[in-house]
Amino acid sequence: MSYLVLARKYRPQRFDELIGQEVLVTTLSNAIKNNRLHHAYILTGIRGVGKTTTARIIAKTLNCENADAAKSAKACGECENCRLITGSKHQDVIEIDAASRTGVDDIREIIDSIAYAPVSSRHKIYIIDEVHMLSNNAFNALLKTLEEPPAHVKFIFATTEIRKVPVTILSRCQRFDLRRLDEKEIASHLKNILVKENFEAEELGLTLIAKVSEGSVRDSLSLLDQALANNNHQKFLSADLIEKMLGLNDKTKILELFSALLRGDFSESSQIFNEFYSRSSDVLQLLQDLLAITHKTTSTKLLKDYKLDDCSKFQQDKIHEIAKEISLNSLTRIWQMLVKGASEITFSSSPKMMFEMLMMRICYLAALPDLKQVLLIVDGDKNPQKKNQEKNIDQKIDENNDELINDILRSFEGSKLI
Ligand SMILES: [Zn+2]
Repeated sequence: MSYLVLARKYRPQRFDELIGQEVLVTTLSNAIKNNRLHHAYILTGIRGVGKTTTARIIAKTLNCENADAAKSAKACGECENCRLITGSKHQDVIEIDAASRTGVDDIREIIDSIAYAPVSSRHKIYIIDEVHMLSNNAFNALLKTLEEPPAHVKFIFATTEIRKVPVTILSRCQRFDLRRLDEKEIASHLKNILVKENFEAEELGLTLIAKVSEGSVRDSLSLLDQALANNNHQKFLSADLIEKMLGLNDKTKILELFSALLRGDFSESSQIFNEFYSRSSDVLQLLQDLLAITHKTTSTKLLKDYKLDDCSKFQQDKIHEIAKEISLNSLTRIWQMLVKGASEITFSSSPKMMFEMLMMRICYLAALPDLKQVLLIVDGDKNPQKKNQEKNIDQKIDENNDELINDILRSFEGSKLI
């Protein structure tokens, strides 16, 4: 059996399967039930939100051979008419892509055919996609027909750019704005489909797909298809894989970079950075991501129940691990260096070079032991016999003299943080 892409397999076939378009569904269903349909509709909304699908559902509901279809506003989906309309093959349902047929001659052709009665159904339905692409002459030719079409004719226009449609056309149509779905609606739609397909996915991954799709159901389904294929159609889809596929500055990689910097491993840090740079030159974004990780790690260190909701399970474990090993001092120091780096990079003509210098600074400076550690070492060297070292350190910090600083510098051996 050949594989049917999800966007096609799960394309809504009836009004009650359209998600998130309640106003449109209620209004149109009522109009169909009461036989009070307008002769022209214009559907507007972003691409992939379901305009053509809705147009076909209207066409099916009007032309379904099942006697109950009109009464209940539900097409059967199984009769000859329904099946042909689903496959865009019905001779009385004419689909035109205005993007490729913009001229007045194309519209004349339509107008000439309008007078003829439908061949095998009640209505002759013209679905014109991307109607805003029609030329002015084409719009003018259409106007008169649109004013008083024969009773058997219905027009359904679809457009992503309603502002480009002349007011004279708009005023002759009933308009529906198809709502852009929010992230939650899309993510839960994807989840339902995965359940039907017998797959499981990490919720964060689905949220990421929903975010990138920006309200378009079709885009989200294509991405899900791609993710399943990338995952070799294994049962479980991880957020990490989706993140990687979407080409987001994937957090796991950023965590690796963060961890390498903390270990003072410049060679590994620079290797990871180059990988990033080969994909995107947005160094500032990378820096912002590092700041976010620093913030997350610090919060995790200080707050017992700090939630890392937008991280995958693997990333959460990694952050907890780093938070446990790194001192608060070092985190604050790195934060300051990153913030300073961000402002330098913003005004730099060579962000890459700036970032590399910043990495070196972090690798060598962040790797300094914190003050208390150093003082312990200094104190241990000077007074090996001293028993109460802690008390002595506090005194030293209070004095804060030049001698102390010299001691610290002399004792520094570049010990690593982790
Ligand atoms: Zn039917």
